[in-house]
Amino acid sequence: SLTATNIHLAFGSNKVLRGIDLHVPQGTTASVIGPSGSGKSTLLRVMNRLIEPDQGDILLDGRSVLADNPDELRRRIGMVFQQFNLFPHKTVVQNVSLALSKIRKMPKDQAHSKAMEQLELVGLKSKADARPGNLSGGQQQRVAIARALAMEPEVMFFDEATSALDPELVKGVLALMTDLSKGGMTMVVVTHEMGFSRNVSDTVTFMDGGVVVETGPPAELFTEPKTDRLKGFLSDVL
Ligand code: ATP
Ligand code: MG
Repeated sequence: SLTATNIHLAFGSNKVLRGIDLHVPQGTTASVIGPSGSGKSTLLRVMNRLIEPDQGDILLDGRSVLADNPDELRRRIGMVFQQFNLFPHKTVVQNVSLALSKIRKMPKDQAHSKAMEQLELVGLKSKADARPGNLSGGQQQRVAIARALAMEPEVMFFDEATSALDPELVKGVLALMTDLSKGGMTMVVVTHEMGFSRNVSDTVTFMDGGVVVETGPPAELFTEPKTDRLKGFLSDVL
C-alpha cells in the first residue's frame, strides 16, 4: 500500500497542499480529480519525492520512506506524464531498455529482451526499431508506459496521461491503463477522464484548493456528491 498522511507543501506563500491524506491499498487504483491548480500534480510529485513535503509522511507498505534515498523510492514508483518525455534520437526499444541497463545495471542483451517483452505487452513490438517521432501520440504514450513498467515498479503514477492526445488515441491508452488496473497494479491516476475514474478506479479523491474535499468509492462520489464544491465540479465536467 501507499499512504500519504497530512501532507503540507507551500511554494513561497502559496500553500498548495494543506493537509492531504491519501491511502491506496495494494492492488487498487485511486483516481484523483479536481480543478486546475488544485494541487494534483504537486501531490504526485511529493509522493514520489520529486519535491519534499514541508510536513507529513509517505509510507510504502506501512513504512515511512522519507528517511530513505529519494532515488530508491522513484525506482519503486513508475511515473507517466502528459508529455511522454521519450528520447527522440533513440529507438523505441532503446527508450524502454535504457533505464534497465543504466539504473538497474542489467546486461545490454537482457535489457533488450526485457524491453521487447514490455513492448509486446503494450502492443508495440512491431515499432521497436522506429523513432518515437514516427509514432502516434497514443503509441508514444504506450511506449512511455512500457518504459515505466519495465522497471517493475510496485506502484504506477499517471498524471493526465491522456490529456495531450487526440481524442481518437485516448481510448487505446485508457484501455492499457484499465488492463493494468484489473491486473492488480497499485495505481494513482490523476485524470480528467471521468469515465475511467467512475468505471475503473476503486476510490476517487476530489481535491480543491490543496485539500481533499471528498473521497470514497466512485459509486458514492459520482451519484451522491456531498459538497457543493464537488457538485459544481461534476456539473462542469460531466
Ligand atoms: P492541472 O489540473 O492544471 O494540472 P494541478 O491540480 O495539477 O492542476 P498543480 O500543478 O499541482 O495543480 O499546481 C498547484 C499550484 O501550485 C498552482 O497554484 C501552481 O501555480 C503551483 N505550483 C506548481 N508547481 C510549482 C512550482 N514548481 N513552483 C511554484 N509554484 C508551483
Ligand atoms: Mg496537473
